[in-house]
Amino acid sequence: MHLWCTEKQTHSLGLTTRIKETLYTGTSEFQNIAVVDSMQFGRMLILDGVFQTSVFDEFVYHEMIAHVPLYIHPNPRNVLIIGGGDGGTVREVVKHDSVEIAEMVEIDGMVVEACQKYLPEISIALNENNPKVRLKIGDGIQHMKEAEKKYDVIIVDCSDPIGPGEGLFTHDFYKDVSRALKDDGLFVQQTESPYYHQELIRRLTKDISSLFPITKMYLANIPLYPGGLHCFTIGSKQYYPDKVDIKGRQKITTRYHNAEIQKSCFVLPNFVQDLIK
Ligand code: SAM
Repeated sequence: MHLWCTEKQTHSLGLTTRIKETLYTGTSEFQNIAVVDSMQFGRMLILDGVFQTSVFDEFVYHEMIAHVPLYIHPNPRNVLIIGGGDGGTVREVVKHDSVEIAEMVEIDGMVVEACQKYLPEISIALNENNPKVRLKIGDGIQHMKEAEKKYDVIIVDCSDPIGPGEGLFTHDFYKDVSRALKDDGLFVQQTESPYYHQELIRRLTKDISSLFPITKMYLANIPLYPGGLHCFTIGSKQYYPDKVDIKGRQKITTRYHNAEIQKSCFVLPNFVQDLIK
C-alpha cells in the first residue's frame, strides 16, 4: 500500500506526492510540524499542511532569497533572517565572506529542532557552531520593533500569511523593517505565487513602495510551491537591484544562482508587471 500526501494549495488545487515514510510529527505552540520522506521531493518539511521545503528543490529558494539581495549590497556585514527555521537561508548567507553576523529570529524552536534532526543538509549552518550565526527563538515582528539602523540586509523567510506569519505581510511590519535597516540597507521577502496570490502581491507591493524609494520583484522556478513560479519582493533604500554586476565579486558554489540569473530574475512577464503597477 502507498501513502500519498496532499498540500491544498488553493481552494480548488492540490499538490500530491507519494510518501515513503513519515519521519516526524509534532505540535508546537504555533503549528503542526511534520517531516516526511516523499518519492518525488525526498525529505520535506510540512507546517500546518503546507509544504515548506524539500531536499529536492530547496537550493533554488535558498540561493535566490539569500544571494540576490546579498550581491545587491556592496558590503553586507550584518544580516538578519526572520523565520527560516529549516536553516537553508542562513546556510547560504554565511557563505559570503563579507558577512560578519547572520542573526536569525525564528518563532518556533520545534521547527529548528526537527530540521536539525531530519534535514541536516539544509540546517547544516545551525548544527556546526558557525561563529557568524546567532539564533534567537522569538517573534520576528516583535524583534523588528526593537531594532534601529542595525542591519545591512534583512531577509524575511516566512511561511504563508496565516498563523504566526500573518503579521509579516503588513504595512506596520515593513515600517519596522525600514527603521531596522541602515541608511543604505535593503530587505527581501518571499511573496508567494504570482498566479495564485495576486491580491496579496498587489497589497504588499503598494505597502513596500510607500516606504522604500526602490521596490523590485524577482522570480524563480520552484516546483514545490504553488504554480511552480515563485516571487520575491525587495525594498531598497539606495541600491538598484537590477543594476548590479556581480562579475568579479566573490565566487560562491551554487546550483541555480549565477551572474546571469542575478540580472535576468528581474525580467518579469507582462501579467506580473501589470500586477505590481
Ligand atoms: N521556504 C518556506 C516557504 O516559502 O514556505 C519558508 C520556510 S521557513 C520554515 C518559515 C518559518 O517562518 C517557519 O519555520 C515559521 O515558524 C517561521 N515564522 C512564521 N511566523 C514567524 C514570526 N512571526 N517570527 C519568526 N518566524 C516566523
